[in-house]
Amino acid sequence: MLYGALEAGGTKMICAVGNENGQILDQTTIPTTTPEETMPQIIEYFKTKIDENLPEEDRIVALGVACFGPVDVREGSKTYGNILNTPKIAWRNYPIVKTLKDALGDIPIGFDTDVNGSLLGEATWGTAKGLTDAVYITIGTGIGMGAISGGNPIHGQLHPEAGHIIMSKIPGDEYKGHCPTHGACFEGMASGPAIQERWGKPAQELREMPEVWELEAKYIAQALTAITLILSPQKIILGGGVMGQSQLFPLVRKYTLDYLNNYIDTKELRNVNSYITPAALNGNQGIMGAIKLAELATEE
Ligand code: ADP
Ligand code: ZN
Repeated sequence: MLYGALEAGGTKMICAVGNENGQILDQTTIPTTTPEETMPQIIEYFKTKIDENLPEEDRIVALGVACFGPVDVREGSKTYGNILNTPKIAWRNYPIVKTLKDALGDIPIGFDTDVNGSLLGEATWGTAKGLTDAVYITIGTGIGMGAISGGNPIHGQLHPEAGHIIMSKIPGDEYKGHCPTHGACFEGMASGPAIQERWGKPAQELREMPEVWELEAKYIAQALTAITLILSPQKIILGGGVMGQSQLFPLVRKYTLDYLNNYIDTKELRNVNSYITPAALNGNQGIMGAIKLAELATEE
């Protein structure tokens, strides 16, 4: 079976065709500019994949969309499938699912957040395979968290926004925080732009400054401590550009255990190297998750 997959990001749109094993058979990338410019290119790509002149076995049977947010994932909601109050003004309230449905006819479309998508990819084919409760956090331009609980993505009233939990400032850190809404929330203190503003250089140029990563790890560990205590996941996967600094992993593990202070004794926390871990799908977790979203949409 072939599935269409769209990983809709704030900088680029990855369009792909994949199969039920998560194999990516074809892929193209389109810059995210405005809906007027970007969407016709996406639609054109998928139109060629549902073309009736193709042999039936070469056509996609569903489309999965893993989208930057916030997004409306509430089934039955009037604005289901819309991008909501994003800082990317051109995309605010944009009906991405409806636009694709109108253009592509009646193929089923699965839809979730980019981070739930990445987690679904990892839970189906990657490091969280077989787990029922897991978390995926991306630390990049923003900070987002996807979560599955009992095998299902957590949506609740909308979807988790754990990038905006309030941080306790680490003593000595005078930085006011980068989040326009909260100042010193997780994203405000620990996102790539926060690192850049606090230290005066892009995060990727600060590798040789251990104090940067000590502080960064403490904020990430604060968040992981809260998430561990609230969601009790079996695994926390960390991705995004900032986690490209692999020296963060041992620091984040150490400080998370320090903050938890042995309050919980579980096999997961005893194996902290596998509890707090990088993504395992080589950057393809998002698009593979979108393939899985498509497959799930055919079952509904
Ligand atoms: P986005 O979040 O925009 O989808 P990324 O996850 O790559 O994309 O996040 C971009 C942010 O991550 C930028 O703030 C950038 O400075 C930071 N970043 C990217 N690569 C690295 C790296 N290797 N080390 C540290 N920070 C990085
Ligand atoms: Zn915030």
